[in-house]
Amino acid sequence: MENNLLADTAETDFQVIFKKQLVRAQQLRKQPWQNRKKLLRLFGAFILQNRPRIHQALKADLGKSATETDISEVFPVISELKEAVRNLADWVTPEQIDAPLTYLGTTSEIHYEPKGTCLIIGPWNYPFNLTIGPLVSCLAAGNTAILKPSELTVHTSRLIRDLVSEFFDEELVTVVEGDVQAATQLLQLPFHHIFFTGSTAVGKVVMRAAAENLSSITLELGGKSPTVIDATANLNDAARRIAFGKFLNVGQTCVAPDYVLIDRTVAREFIELLKQHVIQLFGSGSGITAQSNDYARIVNTKNFNRLQALVQDAVHLGATIELTGTSDSARHFFHPVILSNVSTRSKIMQEEIFGPVLPVIFYHHEDEILPIILERPKPLGFYIFSNRKSFQQKLSVEVSAGAVCINDCVLQFTHPRLPFGGINASGFGKAHGRYGFLAFSNEKPVLKQKSGITMSSFLYPPFTNRVKRTINLMLRWL
Ligand code: NAD
Repeated sequence: MENNLLADTAETDFQVIFKKQLVRAQQLRKQPWQNRKKLLRLFGAFILQNRPRIHQALKADLGKSATETDISEVFPVISELKEAVRNLADWVTPEQIDAPLTYLGTTSEIHYEPKGTCLIIGPWNYPFNLTIGPLVSCLAAGNTAILKPSELTVHTSRLIRDLVSEFFDEELVTVVEGDVQAATQLLQLPFHHIFFTGSTAVGKVVMRAAAENLSSITLELGGKSPTVIDATANLNDAARRIAFGKFLNVGQTCVAPDYVLIDRTVAREFIELLKQHVIQLFGSGSGITAQSNDYARIVNTKNFNRLQALVQDAVHLGATIELTGTSDSARHFFHPVILSNVSTRSKIMQEEIFGPVLPVIFYHHEDEILPIILERPKPLGFYIFSNRKSFQQKLSVEVSAGAVCINDCVLQFTHPRLPFGGINASGFGKAHGRYGFLAFSNEKPVLKQKSGITMSSFLYPPFTNRVKRTINLMLRWL
């Protein structure tokens, strides 16, 4: 039936491969899940063998050091693979469901069936991790996949294409390289699931396209993740952890702290500590320079200029520069910037920063915190640095966010057993571990009835007084 959805004449290459994948997806449904486990185990070994190629691609695209690539690109994918290999037997086992009295005599199970043929569209900021990570969940659930990595990280996109064609046959996994045009064409196909990671603006385009085919979707989007620090927080820990979470990958991280709201009585001390930690983590004796090995680069000139314009606008509206240095646009090296006295009207407080610029806003009273956060779209992450349980509790309850992390930041992303995803503007649907497996599975109930008289047959027409009495009893007691 699905094949009829595609025109028979003048098929594009995408339609051809999509059709082949539909056939393979149907075959996969009949194969034992143990095959998936074996495939994932081999794929993990293959990725580790190819680590040097991954290092080279990320160095070329984002100036990442090999160690940063291991931490933020290779490790999360290997962790995802290990979690799937270890737990697949458990994840695929049908769940037995108890019958309430009205269903006496029936037995029910939830089966986890593969959705079929899926599309994974990746971003450029963690281009390996955020394209191959979802692929692991997709394969664990028994699907086929077409991957569309970001065109902005060309070396990683090319590498993903090569690795995939070396390891998988194209009916199982195919990579389509290209930009908006390729993505637009792919989105016309009736995929059974689309897993998109990228900006909120493009997320809306993907959702509209998915609606045409009623494809289910996971949207992993971005947003402004707020970070609140009160006077009871361990300021040194907060400064070190925020320095790492914010300036890793030069702030081009969807879960990076976007801005800080801090009690004004501890703000100065925090800013001094933060400056020290940023330099210690990413620089050397001469500070952070275009030669610093452990500090990545901005993806392209467009984003470099965008960040400069955000800083200029904030300064124009009265912001104070607490930390800056010489940047080098030709090499896409953007020195870390810390700002204070930032107006909430400035552009930097309206859009996701996605770069190494951190606005720090001082509050005089705790009542000022919630209005600033709540007037912005729901964020992907929310960070609270405090040693007061009541404060942690109040903010975690009153702020709706993809995740809350207390006394640290970003860590929630890499935890393999936590669901990862946003809410509304920061996306929906969950990824990672079992949640990623579920995103690519249909939770299909299978109910078996016994033969002969059943509980439901007492409710069949004609609706005699006996039926009416039965329904009255049910309404009252069940
Ligand atoms: P983007 O939305 O510009 O691009 C993402 C992908 O969509 C790319 O592969 C691109 O080719 C494709 N694309 C672009 N325009 C398209 C269109 N009109 N139709 C279909 N596809 C299109 O995002 P980006 O700049 O690569 O990534 C940065 C954004 O992603 C940030 O907002 C960041 O917060 C977010 N992000 C979210 C997560 C998460 O897990 N929630 C992770 C990383 C990045």
